Amino acid sequence: MKKIATAFLLGFLASALAGEVKSYPLQTCIVSDEPLDASRQPISNNYQGQEVKACCRECKRDFKKDPGKFLKKISAAE
Ligand SMILES: [Zn+2]
Repeated sequence: MKKIATAFLLGFLASALAGEVKSYPLQTCIVSDEPLDASRQPISNNYQGQEVKACCRECKRDFKKDPGKFLKKISAAE
């Protein structure tokens, strides 16, 4: 059993180190809730393994000021 647990743990670590990112579940800006428009090139960001998208630089800056507040929107969406 121990070997199995170790293999599982190593697999988990390997995927964490490989930088697997959870994709962003929303169709809207993480900060402003504006619909993301591909033609306006939403800003995509990897925050601790979670992809986040913002509609503009201002929103990205606001996200960085208080990430926890905005990440709640993602957990609520899942
Ligand atoms: Zn914005």
